[in-house]
Amino acid sequence: MTGNVINYFDNYSPVADIVVMACCFVFFILIKFAYIRKTKSFNIFFTMLILLLISAATNIIFHISINQKGILNNIVIYLFYDVYLLSIFANIYCFVRYVSCSLYIDDEFSERYSRITSCVYFILSVLVIVGHYAHFGFYIDEELSVHSGIPFFIIFYFLFVGFAMLLLYKYRDRVFGQVTKGLVSSIVVSAMMLVIQVINDNTTYTCASVLFPAYAIMYLLHSSPYDMETGAVNEASFNDMIEYSYGHDTKLVIMSLNLIDFDNNNKLPREVQYLVKHFYTRFLKNAVLFRPSNGRLIVTFDVEKNPNKDECIKNMLNSFHESYPKYKLDYKIVIMESTDAISRNNEYIRLIKYIEKMKLHKNQVRIVNGDDIKAYLEHRYILSELEDINRRFDLDDSRIEVFCQPVLNTTTGKYDTAEALMRLRLKEVGMVFPDQFIPLAENYNLIHVLSLIILNKTCKKIKELMDEGYELNRISVNFSVIDVRDDNFCGDIMRIVKNCGIPYDKIAIEITESRNENDFEIVKEKIYELKDNGIKFYLDDFGTGYSNFERIIELPFDIIKFDRSLVIASGKSERSGTMVNSLASMFDTMNYSVLYEGVEDEKDEDMCKSMYAKYLQGYKYSKPIPIDKLKEYFKKSA
Ligand code: C2E
Ligand code: CA
Ligand code: CA
Repeated sequence: MTGNVINYFDNYSPVADIVVMACCFVFFILIKFAYIRKTKSFNIFFTMLILLLISAATNIIFHISINQKGILNNIVIYLFYDVYLLSIFANIYCFVRYVSCSLYIDDEFSERYSRITSCVYFILSVLVIVGHYAHFGFYIDEELSVHSGIPFFIIFYFLFVGFAMLLLYKYRDRVFGQVTKGLVSSIVVSAMMLVIQVINDNTTYTCASVLFPAYAIMYLLHSSPYDMETGAVNEASFNDMIEYSYGHDTKLVIMSLNLIDFDNNNKLPREVQYLVKHFYTRFLKNAVLFRPSNGRLIVTFDVEKNPNKDECIKNMLNSFHESYPKYKLDYKIVIMESTDAISRNNEYIRLIKYIEKMKLHKNQVRIVNGDDIKAYLEHRYILSELEDINRRFDLDDSRIEVFCQPVLNTTTGKYDTAEALMRLRLKEVGMVFPDQFIPLAENYNLIHVLSLIILNKTCKKIKELMDEGYELNRISVNFSVIDVRDDNFCGDIMRIVKNCGIPYDKIAIEITESRNENDFEIVKEKIYELKDNGIKFYLDDFGTGYSNFERIIELPFDIIKFDRSLVIASGKSERSGTMVNSLASMFDTMNYSVLYEGVEDEKDEDMCKSMYAKYLQGYKYSKPIPIDKLKEYFKKSA
């Protein structure tokens, strides 16, 4: 070992190490300005960079010192050599640790594995140091000849690269194929580079060769794709940050700015892009900007790092209100602190959208409070129950309850019809009223099953009342236009009514006018089909929309339900009264029956009676009651 006097230290050029050092600085700068989650594996990666910097720097110093051999004490030269080599060992060791850490390995194999690698790392490091004095490693003899000794670096390098490859292979299911391929190919490139260097008797590229795996890691695992318009990071990074802060009990402030006009794919105007880029950093420390969708910007910051956060937010909003009007863009701002109930499943964006929709008008700011979060959680709960009702599709689902409002027939002075109104009874929140769940069910396309359930329950009750001998003409059930669009609309209704064993004319369907042209044709076709079988039809909420008489007349309605707003208007002004009266007169002449809704007192009743009322419905007679109590209003036939 002592024989081979070498000259490859002479072939060394510091250029590669200088480049490595420069690259490390680039890394540090990128890390400073990027959003990177500070996980355990990130910390290992960061250590690798520092080690790389040290090894590149000491490698240069070592080569300078080796030219001063004879002048400098050998021990000093050995010291530089050791710092260089051991830090590069440590770097490679960290790489292997990094791989095992990002593969989330914590089984017996990995324990044994980490013990072995630590031992190898320790033994080889000791051998390097001892090698100088025992003359089997790198040393300088009395004649100042340099001996390279056992190539510890090559041994170490290939052993550890082997370890890393083994891990990547054994646990290949745990990472994306792309990431594995990326890491493996970066290792292969650096290994090839080392082999070429050895063949050419050179040591210039040693440090550079371990740079590639670091680049691969940075790019594949810690990169956060930036949005070039605003400098924001994407939604995946936002989710990542929430998950991390939840795991580490970090309190965040989350501020969302929704630029309503940019929800689609419009580009933000240049000045706005510029404003966004520079605005929030003036007020906040360590804030991160995200852009989960085109029109939405979210700034988050750590509460601890901005102790007077309320002051910061206030200043920020003031400045926003001062400078913003000139852009003339509509917005909605939602500000909140992170809370476990929302962080758990990372529902911030859903919550923000909910607040924007339910609690905010254009150009308003909302600071989310406990009640908002409660309302959102309730909304989410109701939605999940509605989804469950749909999944089960049980026509007797006990969560749906039928309430009824009896309707007075003015010709006979008796109650002989009623309207069925839906209620939801849920374990956690009790009774839920239609205004809370019907729009939700319509928006999420969950209404059809609900309508069929209430129809089924109503039909069963009608059957019961008929069997008991009550005089009951029919009960009307509400359907929404979304129901009517369903291909199975007619078939489903016919089947349910038939299965309950009642005549078709015991059921009426209430629908409201739709302004949509296409809907009209569909509704018309289906009404005629059901009508032919005997089912009755009511036009609901007449007077609330823009009525199109031509269309109404094309449809064979039995009853026109005048909305309560018409009753109120008639009571208030004579002109309105005259108008409602002539509308009612017109329908009456055309053989449609007129029903007034929302009759609350005697005054309403008298007025409606004087305006062609065939039917009356309202609190004066009864509030909606559970369908089981409906009997109390109907007479038994003799
Ligand atoms: P709607 O069809 O116009 O039902 C009448 C609503 O007016 C009922 O509210 C009823 O409680 C209320 N009301 C009755 N009498 C009076 C009164 O004298 N004064 C006042 N101020 N209000 C009165 P509810 O039960 O909360 O239902 C609200 C809406 O939800 C219904 O309006 C209907 O559009 C919808 N809805 C209810 N059940 C169903 C259903 O099974 N399917 C569908 N698609 N929609 C339903
Ligand atoms: Ca109705
Ligand atoms: Ca109505």
